[in-house]
Amino acid sequence: MRFDVITLFPELFSPLLSSGITRRAYESGQVEVKLSNPRDFAGGNYKRVDDRPFGGGPGMVMLAEPLAQCLKAIQSKRADVAPVVLFSPAGQPLNHAMVERWAGSQGAVLVCGRYEGIDQRFIDEHVTHQVSLGDFVLSGGEIAAMALLDAVARLQPGVLNTADSHSQDSFNPALDGLLDCPHYTRPESWAGRPVPAVLLSGHHGQIERWRREQRLALSQRLRPDLIEQARQQGGLTPEDEAFLARFV
Ligand code: SAM
Repeated sequence: MRFDVITLFPELFSPLLSSGITRRAYESGQVEVKLSNPRDFAGGNYKRVDDRPFGGGPGMVMLAEPLAQCLKAIQSKRADVAPVVLFSPAGQPLNHAMVERWAGSQGAVLVCGRYEGIDQRFIDEHVTHQVSLGDFVLSGGEIAAMALLDAVARLQPGVLNTADSHSQDSFNPALDGLLDCPHYTRPESWAGRPVPAVLLSGHHGQIERWRREQRLALSQRLRPDLIEQARQQGGLTPEDEAFLARFV
C-alpha cells in the first residue's frame, strides 16, 4: 500500500513516521508514505505556489499548475491509477468505515491544502474524493492526512502488539460499532477510587459481560446513534436489549 502526500510542509510528517507503534508499518514499507512538495514543481525564481484570489478577498489560493505537475510526477512513479484525496472542510467526515476501506486499499494520493484553499480547477480536474476531519477549520490538510495515515497504519496486520487489539476499539464492527469500555490498571485503588471488583474476579465470562454492558451504557449515554445503528444491523442480543431497557 502506498500513500503519496502532496504538501508544502513535508517536515511536519517526520514525527508521525518515526514515532510510536505505527512506525514499524511505515518503516517496513507495509504502509509506504512518499512526500512530495508542489514547490519543487513551481516555476520562476520565487517558486511561487500561491496567488491572490480572483474577485478579491482575504488570503491566498494555491496555484493549480504546481499541484498538477506534482501529481503528474507521482502518477508516473505509481503502478496503479491511484485515487486523489483532497482534505477539505467540505469533504465527507472521516469515520471508521472510511478508514477500513482505505486500510484495505492500494493507497492513494493525499492532497493537503493551505491558505484559503486550492484553485477549484485542480479539484475539478483531478480530485476523486474529499475528506474532512470535522466541522472546524485547520490551517492545512496535513493534520487530516496524518490522522488518516495513523488510523490506516494501526489497522494493518501485525502493527499493534496484540493481533486483534483494534477489533476491541470504538466503532469496530467486531463490537457492533459501539464505544469502547473503560480501562483500568494498577494500583487496585487510586485516589480513593477502587477498580470495579468484577475485573479482579478472574471470571472471564462475567468480565466480558461487564465490558459489553459498559459499552452499551456508554454508547446509550453519549452516542445513542451508535445504539440505533447496532440495533438496525441486528447486533443487539435480547440480553443487550434487556440491559438497555433499564435506562429508559
Ligand atoms: N477557506 C477554507 C474553508 O473555509 O473551507 C478553509 C481553508 S483552510 C485554512 C486550508 C486547508 O486546510 C484546506 O484547504 C484543507 O486542505 C485543510 N483543512 C482545513 N480544515 C479542514 C478539515 N476540517 N478537514 C480536512 N482538511 C481541512
